Amino acid sequence: MAEIKVLPEEVVAKIAAGEVIERPASVLKELIENSLDAGAAKIDIEIKKAGRGLIRVHDDGRGMAREDLRLALGRHATSKLNTFEDIYSLATFGFRGEALYSIFAVSRLKMASFVHGAPSGYEIEGEGGHVTAEIPAAPVKGTTIEAADLFFNTPARAKFMKSDTAERAQLIRTVEEAALANLGTAFRLVIDDKEILSLPVHPGGLWENLKDRAAAIFGKNIYAGLVRIESKAPGMAVYGLFSRPDALSATRVNQHFFVNRRPVSSALLRQALYRGYGHMLTGRHPACALFLELAPDTFDANIHPQKRDVKFSGENEIFKTISNTVFTELLSKQTAASPLPAVEGGKKEIFDVPSFRNSPDAAAPSAAAETPSLFGGNEALTPVSAAAPVPDWSAGDLKYLGQLAKSYLLFDSGSGLLVVDQHAAQERILFEKYLGEFSGGAIKVQPLIIPLETELSRSQMETVLKWRDWMKTAGFEIDQRGPGTALLRAAPALFYFTQPAFADFLGYLSEVLGEPQKAAEDMKRSIIATMACKKSIKAHDFVKPQEALRLMEDLKKTKDSYHCPHGRPTLFHLSGQDIARRFQRSASV
Ligand code: ADP
Ligand code: MG
Repeated sequence: MAEIKVLPEEVVAKIAAGEVIERPASVLKELIENSLDAGAAKIDIEIKKAGRGLIRVHDDGRGMAREDLRLALGRHATSKLNTFEDIYSLATFGFRGEALYSIFAVSRLKMASFVHGAPSGYEIEGEGGHVTAEIPAAPVKGTTIEAADLFFNTPARAKFMKSDTAERAQLIRTVEEAALANLGTAFRLVIDDKEILSLPVHPGGLWENLKDRAAAIFGKNIYAGLVRIESKAPGMAVYGLFSRPDALSATRVNQHFFVNRRPVSSALLRQALYRGYGHMLTGRHPACALFLELAPDTFDANIHPQKRDVKFSGENEIFKTISNTVFTELLSKQTAASPLPAVEGGKKEIFDVPSFRNSPDAAAPSAAAETPSLFGGNEALTPVSAAAPVPDWSAGDLKYLGQLAKSYLLFDSGSGLLVVDQHAAQERILFEKYLGEFSGGAIKVQPLIIPLETELSRSQMETVLKWRDWMKTAGFEIDQRGPGTALLRAAPALFYFTQPAFADFLGYLSEVLGEPQKAAEDMKRSIIATMACKKSIKAHDFVKPQEALRLMEDLKKTKDSYHCPHGRPTLFHLSGQDIARRFQRSASV
């Protein structure tokens, strides 16, 4: 007798389901994607018992005709794909034709739908892959799918589920990501009869909607620390909202990555993000909604059954573009006391997001297609640190009052008190001077009569050596003596290194820098400059009045006088009114 048996269809279905449907959030993700593919303008989601009890998704999309309802539940049933080659054009989200089939195999399913012009709506019901009823339904625009009692017939899988709290968190995240990725579709999420998210679509453009959703999804505090970043490179665009370096979080839960508007988890993108922040991170984590737009044939999102992971053809370019964009934009975008630079429409080149979703099916009103209306003077994105606007000071109008804690310089600004972090201010000035010399190709180098020495681990030494030639162009002559000893023979004349400072500098360098050829030139420069500046300035310096005023003159001339190169503020201003308010007086000084 033959040993080989053909598995019954039911078993096959359950196995397939195991690949696609891992947990309640995977069901939800598939249903949302289908609704989006159907051109939904609004998606309503209801969850009970962390998704085990019920996952219900209602959309106002195109709907399905009576005969398609049954077909849609079959294996490899899809209206979105005809040939294998189509997989490579990611015009729609779903193309495996397996989601509904898999969900049906492991739940009690109800699916009601209505197409425009049909005599009535229809509903199909069943469980564990068997249809039990087909009945007429109300002519309600779109489709409603209910998956109840998930994994009722696969107890082994049910056991693998995490706690209700964890499953619920994952369900919410699924909706959040879909909502960030699809700004032209309204979302509403109700869990156990409680409204968790309500995200309508605003008449404004992409940024208005993204901003709105970010505020709802990230929460007020994190949202207040975000800045908008965008840039274009050949064949690629990067944009989104990112934490300011002084507003980082303790965890990475608020990081969202999208490729062509699809949520992805990608080590490459995450690493590029972290590289962009570089030394500004100090052990904390940025929040972000990072959007990468690529030509559809330059990446593959189908290597993972849940379609989360992506494979890129131009990894190096992507890494470089993202890290550079984040780095340079973070440094340049910051202005201390003013809100996010309010860009008036028209003046700046308006960034239109390239859309590669060119399927005629993708008829959902897409915010991306509209002209983005840009953040203009909105309160929510004002840096948290901005207590009051800084008057347009110039050193001549300042009266130096004295120094506090050998670290802060106090000035009478005429309209209040200006407090300057002398260390941060010096760093900013030095940073820009050095970068100026660097880009002019004229770094003044100072040989050290007695070279500075420091011990490094082997791997640190390896990184430093990789960078040695480049460091020379940056004005640093570094040598190796013995397996673990590095020598500094010459340094830019602007910097003053002590031995411990040099040790720290190389230590940092070897942690922060990776492959020299991977980083772009101006990013390398900025990293070296920020680190060298930090190490070269002694805190707790006594400052004479002329020096204090001189410092302010120099600071005024810098491009970003409100931030040190690490993104921390260099100064703040207490207006007369602020001071009066603290004394509960109404008049100002
Ligand atoms: P895929 O999305 O890969 O095509 P699915 O199993 O997710 O496979 O869905 C099968 C088919 O059912 C889809 O191709 C689509 O035609 C139809 N369908 C599923 N959900 C919806 C919906 N919400 N609105 C309209 N059609 C739908
Ligand atoms: Mg699908």
